[in-house]
Amino acid sequence: MANQSTQEVIEELKKLLSEKGDLDCEVQGKIERLIAEYSGVGAVIEYAVGSLEVRNILVIGHSKCGGIERLMTLPEDGSNEFDFIDDWVRIGLSAKEKVLSENPNLSLDEQCKLCEKESVKNSVRNLWSYPYVRKAVMDGNLKLWGGYYDFIHGKFELLEDAHVIPVVPA
Ligand SMILES: [Zn+2]
Repeated sequence: MANQSTQEVIEELKKLLSEKGDLDCEVQGKIERLIAEYSGVGAVIEYAVGSLEVRNILVIGHSKCGGIERLMTLPEDGSNEFDFIDDWVRIGLSAKEKVLSENPNLSLDEQCKLCEKESVKNSVRNLWSYPYVRKAVMDGNLKLWGGYYDFIHGKFELLEDAHVIPVVPA
């Protein structure tokens, strides 16, 4: 597993998805959200890593994401229109800030698209804050991946720089 190429991982994921369609849809449905630092989706991740011993976690962003659009258009004054949705999308604030500072002149549409990908990387980074995820990765038993599904053009891509292990203080 440790020496698998990216292409092999994609093939394996495709196979898994087609074989275990029901199971995977169920799991995917449960964790379809931005991953906060150690908290929110902890139970699902703990179950996947600790009990199911999954070998790969793939965080997938997607085109035309309503959550990301909300994140990108949140009022500057910090006021909430939606209590839960707005608190939830704020998990991606650092991704938003990065996109805005690097691409201040792009259209909202283009900024949203970049943020859809950036927030995947953010979520992968946040996965790293879960102790059992960190241990499984360090032991070579788990890999973290980021992907992006563009359903307008029917394209899936792996975000090459999303699974770089962040440097953590000892
Ligand atoms: Zn979405």
